[in-house]
Amino acid sequence: MVFSTSSAFENPALFRRAILDLPITYSEGPVYKGAHFYIQLTGICDVACSHCMYSSDQSQRHSGPMRLDDADVELALRYVAESSPNKISISGGGEPFLELKHLLRIVEAAQCQYIELITAANWARSQDSAKSILLKISDAARSNPRSPEVMIRASIDLFHLTAPNPVPLQAYVNLTHAWIEHGDSLQLGFRGLLLEGDRSVDLLADALGGILEPQDSWNKVIRLSNDVILPVTLNVLRFSGKGEQYRSEMAHRTMALRQYFAAFEEAPNRLLLGRAINDAIKRTYYSVGGISITLDFDGSLYIFTATAPDRRCNIRTHTFRESVDWFYRDPITRVLMAEGPYWLCEVVRDIDNSLADRAIQANDVCSMVDTLLSDEVGRAFATAVALKTLLSRGEVTGFEQVRLVAAINELPMAALKESAIEAFKKKT
Ligand code: SF4
Repeated sequence: MVFSTSSAFENPALFRRAILDLPITYSEGPVYKGAHFYIQLTGICDVACSHCMYSSDQSQRHSGPMRLDDADVELALRYVAESSPNKISISGGGEPFLELKHLLRIVEAAQCQYIELITAANWARSQDSAKSILLKISDAARSNPRSPEVMIRASIDLFHLTAPNPVPLQAYVNLTHAWIEHGDSLQLGFRGLLLEGDRSVDLLADALGGILEPQDSWNKVIRLSNDVILPVTLNVLRFSGKGEQYRSEMAHRTMALRQYFAAFEEAPNRLLLGRAINDAIKRTYYSVGGISITLDFDGSLYIFTATAPDRRCNIRTHTFRESVDWFYRDPITRVLMAEGPYWLCEVVRDIDNSLADRAIQANDVCSMVDTLLSDEVGRAFATAVALKTLLSRGEVTGFEQVRLVAAINELPMAALKESAIEAFKKKT
């Protein structure tokens, strides 16, 4: 396939494909070790918050499957065994406790030391159900030969308390009381929002007869009289999914994403979440040298904040090793793993300022890469820029005889950019 500066973006998908299929090798091999493995058991949620970044509710909003089935969960367990992640989070979008059988199966069988369960806690509406479910989780954790550390993190904010099917404050109180009495070795914490005027966590502290104590800009603890301490981690309000409707009204009431994550940048503007463990409740994000992967409820897999939307693979068709090889064929992923998503934001801004603004204004690091690479011209441009970046760093080998690589290597960045901008203009 021969591309010139002027023809590269006439068929951007073909141009990107040609780069992905290049017969070249990279000096850095893929990383075959897991870090944080996020598992979304379902896309359905009975609470249906109006701010949900995943747009979850009771509806079948997705054309494919809305939940992992029994076979998928076994594949996920195999994936965990192969990748050996330091941490698993069973999380939303969607309420994982609606898939209790699968959740318990993972807790009892996952070869991982640290398992986090993220929930809206609507299942704790009665003391009996709170107790019964906590006992089941404790039993599952006890039967796991790894004796994993299991932490439940319940989301509480004004949106959960006022959702179409709201979580009553009493559910969080029931959960806490059941945990104090029957929590065994389980840990409990809460997730709130950094949102001016949201007093939900204060209300919970009052209802529990405790004191809310600030720790730092994004952590508090609820201290109870019996020496019990409940950590509370606060996150920014995300304006993606259903949350987009609140952007103009509430952007000034929450912290900006960049400000929030500044403490976790490895260098200015280098936010390496693709290989970080999110230990928010322990007040840190840290790298263990592995890769962090999300398994979505439809079986799709991607490296967190480092995979283009057209480059996901699927747990039903790929082992861990095959997935990693597939991801690392994309120069965009390679540079994202080294530079983080703000790098991509600046690349896309070069050709489409409004798209870069939209990605930043969503205040959501989870959807940032998908938004930035939502257009095929932008994806092709970013692929070429990423390849040029890797070439300039001497990370590509065996390319001397490959005409397309030589052409991209020699192409001035300004010409590449001009050609992509021209392609954008033609489309609009
Ligand atoms: S934010 Fe959580 S609890 Fe609310 S609808 Fe989304 S997944 Fe459900």
